Amino acid sequence: MILPLASSSSTMDTRIMLSCMSATYCNHLSRRKILEAITWSFQCLCDGFFPQADPWGKKFSQEYCKDRWRVAGQRIAGPFHGCLEGIQGDQDYIRTMMSPSRFFSRQLCCYYCRALAWNYVGHDPRESEFLYTNFGVNAAHRTTLVTLDEWLAVNTHSPLCSVPGWSPWRILPDQMHLVHLALAPDAIISCLLDWSDPNTQYLHGSSRDARLQTLWENYRAYCEDQSITERAQRRLFSVQTLKPDSDKFVEISQKILNASACRYMIFWLASVAQHFATIYGSVSDMYRAGVACGLREMEIVCLESGRRYSLSAWKRLEEGYLCYRAGSLHLANLAVSLGQPRWHVRPKSHYLEHAVYDFERKNLRYMSNYLDEDMIRRIKRMACAATPRYASKHVLFRYAVAATLRWSGMIE
Ligand SMILES: [Zn+2]
Repeated sequence: MILPLASSSSTMDTRIMLSCMSATYCNHLSRRKILEAITWSFQCLCDGFFPQADPWGKKFSQEYCKDRWRVAGQRIAGPFHGCLEGIQGDQDYIRTMMSPSRFFSRQLCCYYCRALAWNYVGHDPRESEFLYTNFGVNAAHRTTLVTLDEWLAVNTHSPLCSVPGWSPWRILPDQMHLVHLALAPDAIISCLLDWSDPNTQYLHGSSRDARLQTLWENYRAYCEDQSITERAQRRLFSVQTLKPDSDKFVEISQKILNASACRYMIFWLASVAQHFATIYGSVSDMYRAGVACGLREMEIVCLESGRRYSLSAWKRLEEGYLCYRAGSLHLANLAVSLGQPRWHVRPKSHYLEHAVYDFERKNLRYMSNYLDEDMIRRIKRMACAATPRYASKHVLFRYAVAATLRWSGMIE
């Protein structure tokens, strides 16, 4: 549970661990029981009163949960009530917790609307309008935004859907997994390949590795000049990592380019793309500059804005987003015509559209999972040290002890 109004940005101060489930030892039934208990807790927090009965309706009494019975009906936090802001997590978490029938890997690839990932041969031609590759405010799939009733009709009912105020739009998009670990790395890889292709005028050098070396030196100098310590690994700029002859889209490990390094690298990418577009000015140079500068514009708006964008800041965000989508789609079409697996157009770019248009101008930066990943790292360390059979309980207790010691001021 995240406390968005807590003053400190430390994960221990702003995040409360409610449960820890081992994917290996926790089956569907136990997971559902735990989720029912968590939902019940949130329901009580929203009501503002300690409950009279357990999650399954059994009344507290002198004989059953005496401590709970004593406080039943009293206010939990004086005049305050809990309020559901949203549910955050990566794809795997959302799939496990909410069980959406529409998902990234399916034909109906979006749990926010009826966008399609592909069409079958002989399909109704009108279906093509609903492909996720269409974008912008007038795209046909924007007329199919999911409602609460539709969500409940097409999905298995997760217990979390019973928390007061829940709706599919409470599942918050995560900038880190969408942009910094997927869309921006795709753009970076594709630009590095495009710029180091043989018979191009961008860089000198007899081999691709030599040309990539020039780009690496430029990147390193940029980082030193800007005092950037979070950097991509040297081996990102190598044939071994970029695999130019592969017939699949290249994916790179976070060890080579992690999310924070990617964030900074967007700014370097934009400066190089802009430079090449100014000097050479071909159509594809302009598109590459559009992609990189669009991503940079979105970063700047997120960094400069508070929890919500002002209308003018949001307009800049939208322009950056449209520039990115238009540029990457043109480059993807070009890459297909050349038979090159570059400029991957993923359903994640469609989810980014929802993040831009459908979350009431909430700043993407405040919905991203950076600090949560830090919490997960701490929890994983504890889980590795715990006895596998009782990992959930041990981790929960240890985390509670660590948090309590910190809150009581006994440890820093
Ligand atoms: Zn959608």
